[in-house]
Amino acid sequence: MEAKLGEFDLIWRFFKAGSESMAQTQTDQVLLGIGDDCALLGPDAVQSLAVTSDMLVEGRHFFSNANPQWLGHKALAVNLSDLAAMGAKPIGFTLALALPHADSTWLAQFSQGLFRLAQQWQCPLIGGDTTQGPLTICITALGHVPFGAAIKRSGANVGDDIWVSGTLGDARLALGALRSEWPLNQSSLEAVLPRMHEPQPRIALGMQLRGIASSALDVSDGLLGDLRHILNASQVNAEVLIDQLPISCTLAEQTEHLRRQCAANGGDDYELCFTVPTSKRMEVESLSTTLLPLTRIGSISSASNGTEPLLILRDANGNQLTAADSVRLMQSFDHFKSN
Ligand code: ADP
Ligand code: MG
Repeated sequence: MEAKLGEFDLIWRFFKAGSESMAQTQTDQVLLGIGDDCALLGPDAVQSLAVTSDMLVEGRHFFSNANPQWLGHKALAVNLSDLAAMGAKPIGFTLALALPHADSTWLAQFSQGLFRLAQQWQCPLIGGDTTQGPLTICITALGHVPFGAAIKRSGANVGDDIWVSGTLGDARLALGALRSEWPLNQSSLEAVLPRMHEPQPRIALGMQLRGIASSALDVSDGLLGDLRHILNASQVNAEVLIDQLPISCTLAEQTEHLRRQCAANGGDDYELCFTVPTSKRMEVESLSTTLLPLTRIGSISSASNGTEPLLILRDANGNQLTAADSVRLMQSFDHFKSN
């Protein structure tokens, strides 16, 4: 029997390989293709164009009775978050929508959530496509970034600090409570629900990190799994202080197991995880006081020299977690393997 194909194996085997085999026919306009938060196109020598697509599917990414206003917000937020991860400034977006039926109340609320966020970041809707079908929302966002200034996943260097913005794990805590995976009292649930429904793309931070961060990505599938993408792309190993991950007061009240699971492995946070040389630590600390809290969670320890990158987890006392605990914490979300 064929082994279960994961999301990334699938993309790499059938799409990245195909796109690379076209390399000779490609123009030199494609500066960066599949594998990062955005593709980069080089229309001129001053600005690069950053392009990203993300899709939300009913029953997979949201419950069928989801509030349409939140959906409109989230569909755009997850795309703007990918622009933020590259340090790009939003320019505009397209919207491809499959709808089971045309419900004007639903559409009014959906567009309200969508345009409120679009307005906040001066990012207009510039086109799209609409069809009947199972509710699916696909947005493609475009941004620009000065030539050579985009922050890629592949730039992390040995000795760099690893940082993360805001707090991690609340979206997963809320989702687990809604799915009855664990109990959560009403006031705690209300405190964490906005993190699940209305994530805030860290665009201002991403733009400020140009010239400071050596690599970055947005945390969409869980911190440790996503950090692995940086390690793979940069060919480096890392150490992370698992009890140093920034969490909200609400998550801090939960058991150690739940705290660690949600913070290390919970998806849908849309914070930025980035690496910075130690010589620029003060610049990050200053952004942390002016923009939003930024926390140092570990470091890039060594080069992986072409082998599978190592991610070592340490507890509050600096002790390395057991292999079993590490494995449990490192299972980030994969749309196909988790079926
Ligand atoms: P992100 O979570 O940042 O949106 P993904 O994990 O969804 O990124 O995707 C990883 C990389 O694979 C990205 O560069 C993305 O553009 C690319 N990718 C995903 N699906 C496809 C596809 N069907 N065809 C081509 N590239 C894809
Ligand atoms: Mg991303």
